Amino acid sequence: MLRLGRKGRYEMGGLACRACRGRAGQLVLDLGEQPACDYFPRSDDPGPDPAYPLQMWLCSSCGLAQLVADPTVPEEPRGAEPAALVAQAADAVDRVAAAGLLAGGGRVAEYGSPHGGSWLELLASRGLTPVSPGEPADVVLDCFGLMHAADQSAALAERVSRVAPGGVLLLQYHSLDAIVRGGQWNALRHGHYAYYSASALAAMLAAQGFSGRRAWQFELYGGTVLLAAGRDGDAHLPADDSVPSLFSREVRAGVRDPAALAALQRDAQARARGLHDWLVAERSAGNTVLGYGAASRAVALLRWAEADQSLIRAVVDASPAKQGLRMPGTDIPVVSPARLADYRPSAVALFLADLLPEVRAAFPEVEAAGGRWVNAEVLGSVPARG
Ligand SMILES: [Zn+2]
Repeated sequence: MLRLGRKGRYEMGGLACRACRGRAGQLVLDLGEQPACDYFPRSDDPGPDPAYPLQMWLCSSCGLAQLVADPTVPEEPRGAEPAALVAQAADAVDRVAAAGLLAGGGRVAEYGSPHGGSWLELLASRGLTPVSPGEPADVVLDCFGLMHAADQSAALAERVSRVAPGGVLLLQYHSLDAIVRGGQWNALRHGHYAYYSASALAAMLAAQGFSGRRAWQFELYGGTVLLAAGRDGDAHLPADDSVPSLFSREVRAGVRDPAALAALQRDAQARARGLHDWLVAERSAGNTVLGYGAASRAVALLRWAEADQSLIRAVVDASPAKQGLRMPGTDIPVVSPARLADYRPSAVALFLADLLPEVRAAFPEVEAAGGRWVNAEVLGSVPARG
């Protein structure tokens, strides 16, 4: 699929940028062959699980960081909605309402994430009414949905086409800047086709005759942005300085710089080695380690850390849909929280750091029995950011 072009730059062989169709760009992160992280086999399925290249490519033209390979994978079973996600949605709706963008009596269209997290109830309580698919709306909301579209320009075109005159497009996304700053290399996953910066989105929106007018930032996932965009020439939605300041801060941080993004490759190696070394030390000490959070983003980490059931006995997950399954690419089973105490773990490696306050409160038996919660994603030391 990829071939090496001149001066080490990659060209998308037979493919083009998912947004601008440009062909020049660079491969910035290569996690090798990975199972589709949405594919949780039954625990008695011996494998091997099919694997696909997992690579991030940065378009030189529009600056969109994107997934290269495009295996068709089933959606991840919908998980329990984390409290952090629910709280952020309420916070975001409050902030957008305070900015005067949620006029009561308006219509709303939502493009949600296949992983859940709808805002429609919150918006209904503000007096907005959902419209049928395809109908125009005053508020078109995309909450972590757009990144799931293989054809980014077509997906954005569909959304903007539904924005009524004077309406607003709200796009919420996990920011590439946060991914790079936080060393979140395992945000890269099959099924997530795009990793946005304000800069890349500005180019994508401009191609549709839209522009960003307001941006709000949240701590969710280490850095989530909610961008309000309006149609060019539409005065209903005046801009403030939040978008230009986000834009310039991100560009300074290197979201369009292949060398800055390549730091993710070093992070991946350091984190996986850190987890592996810690797990081996725990096993050598005779300790039982569990994981918590059968999340798609744990899949590549577990594979790179060469984790198996001898190192992690089981991964605990609250989602009923994941019981009886195992982590893709490993022999580690997924078990229900009811089993937590049975294992008497010395440590529980948490794959979703956002959940720490929630799981400590929900499962006091872990610490009561002398066990501890460990953030699995920060065990390796990573090179300092310049
Ligand atoms: Zn592009």
